[in-house]
Amino acid sequence: MNYQKILEDIAEEIKPHLKDGHVADYIPALAKVDPEQFAMSLTLFDGTQYHVGDTETLFSIQSISKVFTFTLALKFYNNSIYKRIGVEPSGNPFNSLVQLEYENGKPRNPFINAGAINMTDALVKHYKNAELTYKEVLNFIKEIADDNSISLNDVILKSEKEHGYRNIALANLMKSFNNLDNDVSEVVDIYFKHCSLEMNTKMLSRTMLYLANHGEDPISKKTHISQRQAKRINSVMLTCGHYDASGDFAFNVGLPGKSGVGGGIVAVVPKLMGISVWAPALNEQGNSLVGTMALELFTTKTGLSIF
Ligand code: GLU
Repeated sequence: MNYQKILEDIAEEIKPHLKDGHVADYIPALAKVDPEQFAMSLTLFDGTQYHVGDTETLFSIQSISKVFTFTLALKFYNNSIYKRIGVEPSGNPFNSLVQLEYENGKPRNPFINAGAINMTDALVKHYKNAELTYKEVLNFIKEIADDNSISLNDVILKSEKEHGYRNIALANLMKSFNNLDNDVSEVVDIYFKHCSLEMNTKMLSRTMLYLANHGEDPISKKTHISQRQAKRINSVMLTCGHYDASGDFAFNVGLPGKSGVGGGIVAVVPKLMGISVWAPALNEQGNSLVGTMALELFTTKTGLSIF
């Protein structure tokens, strides 16, 4: 298959839509990003990469970090992690407080904000230290991206902290239901740090290889998680990876994926490749509008959906 040509065709087709949607503005630093950017990368199991667009440009990974924190939490806690979180789609916005209240402080899944804050708490409990948790998650991301240069953006971090009212409220609500072990501000702080990491589509498409290959990195041959755990993560990405538009993404794209409000999306083609796309303007549910469109075009042109 001529992947390069397919990516170039997609880049042409999405061009008229780069003006649609809106960049996230509830984190003011994200509102400053030029909305008319686009990048898409594929990484195959032998390390071959295909790129189109601004694939060197770093952007805020935001909720894509939720895949990595869930991976490590599942690795350390295995099935006992499900005492703290569920695996059902929320059908609600990513930062909703209402559902968390009537479901007694147990987040629906690890890919909404409450769930990811909870997974961070589980990791702080595991590592027994908040700062170490940040570093270990970062080390894991560097390892699976095969890139040591990854770091966080201080301006975004500061902006997230200054406007993190809802996330702090979610953490407090979980704490009130005894579903958070550590100090609220300590846990939320680490969650914000993971969201503020900057990467590009080249790096992010590389990170998905362990999920495309039953938990084992096909290049380094390192087993990060079990086959069963990889199956679970892919399943939750398929059903919960795009907030209250998860059904829509599964319907149109047909791949496990996870979005972030920085406009990035990662997706997995089982046994074949990792994909990442970036276009900062979002749809109403907070997912990259053009990114979703590009992935739909990709699975339509290649026939590479899981169905
Ligand atoms: N840092 C963002 C928040 O907590 C992540 C949301 C997202 O990427 O969807 O609101």
